[in-house]
Amino acid sequence: MNEFVEKNVSLEKCPALVLNADYRPLSYYPLSLWSWQDAVKSVFLDRVVIVNNYDRQIRSPSFEMKLPSVIALKSYIAPQSKPSFTRFNVFLRDRFSCQYCGSGEELTFDHLLPRSKGGETNWGNVVTACSSCNVKKGGKLLKFSDMKLNQHPYQPSTEDLHKNGKHFPPNYLHKSWMDYLYWDVELES
Ligand SMILES: [Zn+2]
Repeated sequence: MNEFVEKNVSLEKCPALVLNADYRPLSYYPLSLWSWQDAVKSVFLDRVVIVNNYDRQIRSPSFEMKLPSVIALKSYIAPQSKPSFTRFNVFLRDRFSCQYCGSGEELTFDHLLPRSKGGETNWGNVVTACSSCNVKKGGKLLKFSDMKLNQHPYQPSTEDLHKNGKHFPPNYLHKSWMDYLYWDVELES
């Protein structure tokens, strides 16, 4: 990206990537981004360190600074050890794909042990399923359904969800963010 272009994009399109005090993103999906106003405010409140900048200045009568593109919290926020059981988190655990056929369309949830047979709505019994697989399985037990489950449902850790979140980057990623986003994935491969 050349500087001329960057200097001309609107400030609203210049959010800061927010890292925890360990320099890993606070969240991968959605990616932890703060508006430029919040980023600048937190710099002044001394809550963050500036890790990298955009190639553009912001000015007021009393100060001038480069717009932060990556900031890191000064105090570490411990991630929840057990992520909440929400629709979004179940989809994220299952990488937004039907656990029977792999489709990403019309996603809904299937109770492995059907509710009609006493199946509970929790991490261990709910899987992401597309609506046609959901209908196909209906109230049957898996072993009578002629369908194969990709992965047995489980309670994910925050780490598991972060790992999956990396597969869903936003459309726009600033070059200065890259070192903090996917390097550990590359090391794994
Ligand atoms: Zn399906």
